Formats: sequence, structure tokens, C-alpha cells
Amino acid sequence: MHEQRRKYIQALIDTLKRDFRETAGSTGLDAPDPRILEAIRQVPRDRFVPERSLDMAWENTALSIGYGQTISQPYVVALMTQLLELTPESRVLEIGTGSGYQAALLGELAGEVYSIEVVPELAAQAKTRLEEMGYGNVHVRAGNGRLGWPEAAPFDAVIVTAAAEDIPEALVDQLRPGGRMVIPVNTGWYGQDLVLGIKGEDGELKTRSILAVVFVPLVGKEDVP
Ligand code: SAH
Repeated sequence: MHEQRRKYIQALIDTLKRDFRETAGSTGLDAPDPRILEAIRQVPRDRFVPERSLDMAWENTALSIGYGQTISQPYVVALMTQLLELTPESRVLEIGTGSGYQAALLGELAGEVYSIEVVPELAAQAKTRLEEMGYGNVHVRAGNGRLGWPEAAPFDAVIVTAAAEDIPEALVDQLRPGGRMVIPVNTGWYGQDLVLGIKGEDGELKTRSILAVVFVPLVGKEDVP
């Protein structure tokens, strides 16, 4: 069993390397960072997927986690994480905790992680799961992530794992100058672009599109907590 699991994980790592190579023209990143691959080995994705999907846990695919939500595709998780350029000191804000898998990876690579989930049941499940797994540096709360987590700001990095119509202003405000944001943004009738934003010293977010992606929608408005 352990041997089989090790093989599944290695197969996923190989797939991620191939996907990075194949998308390098668009993303500008030709290989996954070894630290991210190590974090992917460390975080047991099989503890973040529902029982019925256990045999798919190490596939490079998004899976349903209930409430109409998904745990994202590992390639997209790795790509978004790499774009954040985290250090062990980084303070990170995540919007869309979902299963908690992305939050756990951030917990492996950064200093403190603050993650907000709008579905209270998912927030509660992820919080318990991450606590049980010993991620003391990952903080989860239920709420509308469009408002950010002002008490814990400023952040070195912000990652939004649901697709937005626009980049929520509160999230830009809570990013430090020089900080990085990754967010899927709707691009009209044909889909979504993963957008990388870097905040300048002047407070402006300079953005560029990285890749076409598919995410569940970021719900809620700025004025409804
Ligand atoms: N990062 C997750 C995948 C998340 S799927 C993982 O690793 O499993 C996107 C999540 O964003 C869903 O759980 C959805 O409920 C949540 N979401 C959507 N709009 C939100 C909002 N305004 N604030 C916080 N979470 C939101």
C-alpha cells in the first residue's frame, strides 16, 4: 500500500513537471520549484478529498468536495503557489479555503497563512482537518473573502482560488507594496484568466495574464460581510 502510494505521488510529480514544460510559453515558468514539489509530497492530498474519490486523490485533476465546490487541480495549485514566490517568513492570505489543501501547502512554504471560506460547513471541516494535521500556522475562518482579513494585514501574498469579476479592492489594500497576488479573473464570454498582480510602491497593482483557467465563482459583494 505504502509502495503504491509512493508511486502515485511520483507519477503526479512527473505529470506536474510535464505540464509546467508544456505551458512554459504562456506562464514563463518552465519547471516546478523543487520546494513546491517537496511540499506536494509532504501534504497528504488523500486526506483532503472525500472518501468516494480516494482512488483519484493523486490524479492531476480537480475533484468535487460537496456544496458545489472542488479541490483544485494539483498543476494549478502548484502554478499559483509558485507565482507567489513565498519565503518561510511570508504572510499569506487565501480566499476560498475549500478542502484546505492549498492552505496546507502554503503552510508548508510560508510563515503564517490566513484563509477565508464562505461556506461555513467547509470552513469548519477544513479548520478541524488542518488542526488535526498539526498546521498551527494556518488560520481559517468563515466569511466573505472579498473583504479580506484586515486585522492580519499587510500580507506578502494573496491567493484567490475562485474566479472574480474584478479584483476586490480590499485585497489590494491589504497587500504590502512589492507583494504578489494571484487571482482567476473572468474575461467576458470565453472564460477566465489566471492573473498575477504585483503591487508597486505607488499602491497600484500591475497585472499580467498567465494562463486560461477554470474556477468556481467568487461569490458575494464587497458590502455584504
Ligand atoms: N483552495 C481550495 C479550492 C477552493 S474552490 C482547495 O485547496 O481545496 C473555491 C472555494 O472558494 C469554494 O470552497 C467556495 O465556497 C469559496 N468561495 C467562493 N466565494 C468566496 C468568497 N467570497 N469568500 C470566501 N470563499 C469563497
